[in-house]
Amino acid sequence: MKSTMQDGPLLIKGIISHGEWLYANKKVFTVTPDGVQEATFYEISRRAERLAAALAGLGVKSGDRVGSFMWNNQAHMEAYLAVPSMGAVLHTLNIRLFPEQLAYVINHGEDSVIIVDNTLIPLLAKIRDQIPTVRHIIVNGPDTTGALGETLDYETLLGAERPGFEWPELDEREAAIMCYTSGTTGNPKGVVYSHRSLWLHSIAQMSANSIGICESDRGLLIVPMFHVNAWGTPYTSFFSGAELIMPQMFLQGGPIIKMIRELRPTISLGVPTIWNDVLHAAESDPEADFSSLRYIVAGGAAVPRHMIEAFRDRHGLRLVQGWGMTETSPLGAVAIPPAGTPREQEIDYEVKAGRVVAGVEVRVVDDTGEVMPRDGKAIGEFEIRGPWIAGAYYGVDAPERFHDGWLKTGDIGTLDAEGFMVISDRSKDVIKSGGEWISSVELESRVMAHPAVFEAAVIAVPDERWDERPLCCVVLRPDATASAEELHDFLAPQVPKWWLPEHWTFLESIPKTSVGKFDKKVLRAQFALGEFSVTTLS
Ligand code: ADP
Repeated sequence: MKSTMQDGPLLIKGIISHGEWLYANKKVFTVTPDGVQEATFYEISRRAERLAAALAGLGVKSGDRVGSFMWNNQAHMEAYLAVPSMGAVLHTLNIRLFPEQLAYVINHGEDSVIIVDNTLIPLLAKIRDQIPTVRHIIVNGPDTTGALGETLDYETLLGAERPGFEWPELDEREAAIMCYTSGTTGNPKGVVYSHRSLWLHSIAQMSANSIGICESDRGLLIVPMFHVNAWGTPYTSFFSGAELIMPQMFLQGGPIIKMIRELRPTISLGVPTIWNDVLHAAESDPEADFSSLRYIVAGGAAVPRHMIEAFRDRHGLRLVQGWGMTETSPLGAVAIPPAGTPREQEIDYEVKAGRVVAGVEVRVVDDTGEVMPRDGKAIGEFEIRGPWIAGAYYGVDAPERFHDGWLKTGDIGTLDAEGFMVISDRSKDVIKSGGEWISSVELESRVMAHPAVFEAAVIAVPDERWDERPLCCVVLRPDATASAEELHDFLAPQVPKWWLPEHWTFLESIPKTSVGKFDKKVLRAQFALGEFSVTTLS
């Protein structure tokens, strides 16, 4: 029997019209070297219409790709609204890719126009002669360098247009945004989000069982808009009336603390390495004030237990962990303890990757693809499916990443009866010692709890007897000392004996990926080249 309900496409333009109407006076704040620039949702949506008119004037048609090579700022928000709503596709370019990878993704995506922040011109200029599909480059801010050849000025283009661009009626399944994975193995792969998937993802982000973004929020967006759409928050902001603070290039602990104190966000989102910086910077900043925040969100990598405890105990601040991937838009799981959990046990849930959010399904399978029990013990690979989960990659076949309509995440761990996921490793980072898995994530989390340790990453190194053993790469805090023996003894009572790393190395810093996670691929390569001085305990 047919329902009697109306039907209608779930489109980004619906998000715009809702936000610009109900929340017309809500603001987006962009931090600049000369102070904070403000614009209301109303102003931003009018400017998005002018941008769409300008792009149409440059010949951008339905389905064309418009690249953004930008920090988190107001103009980037305008592109987020304008480009998909005019029927084109916003390709968010990662400003930290190596030049050859950047050229690869622009060529693979066949971008026809790129909008670039003037401060990023030198990076794009390196590959300007390798991206033949790009017909126009629009510069946000004065282009005084000329390094990109002929460019168009963002404000001049908008100034020449009038607001009132008619957003076309689109099919909700059409492409809206594309984002490439950072390509830790091989070339980056493109994920193409639809209007529908982004719309549904925004609703999920507003739900109180996930991160519950709402009108009374002001979000500090530390996660870049080129890293899985800043985890979806730009759209959720317009949809819910939550204001946004865009930090542009001011992403170190000190400036973030200042922004939090002065602009008083209620929530903030970033990867754990950023929060580690903030935590350490706060120690020497008597004016650090986190009282405006109801919680902070960390995702993209495992969050060490001590970090959650440190924010809670020193600053009275809740850190909410989330799990997701570029392929999952990214919201997959959020670690909110079940109702009724006694306060002292909350941390045991908060350290998990998350609890599966409404709208997606998650399961764990073994090597043969058999589904394993949800008992918190059976360990295997996570698979996920749902309306905001990728079902394919753009323009490449990757059958090994899909299984009976589920996305294979490449993450290894357990799922329990209450829907909590625990990640012990990414499949490419696992350590298999004598046929048994050792969780690098768990070891890192525990070593980082040592007071002398700033950061630690654990990788597998070859071993004649056990096949692989863990090597613990440690960065000590400035002025702190700790020997390999001391750290080993600190770990000893906390993990099984055979997990204890016998190999240790002390580094100045852990290499980071383009989105700020520990880059274990680089660590493995450096180790293989003999670049580390390794202490081996007997
Ligand atoms: P990249 O591949 O460059 O790291 P993604 O952001 O798509 O880019 O990474 C997704 C991966 O990040 C996941 O597959 C998982 O391994 C890791 N990850 C994300 N959130 C968590 C978390 N809360 N705990 C552990 N790992 C996480």
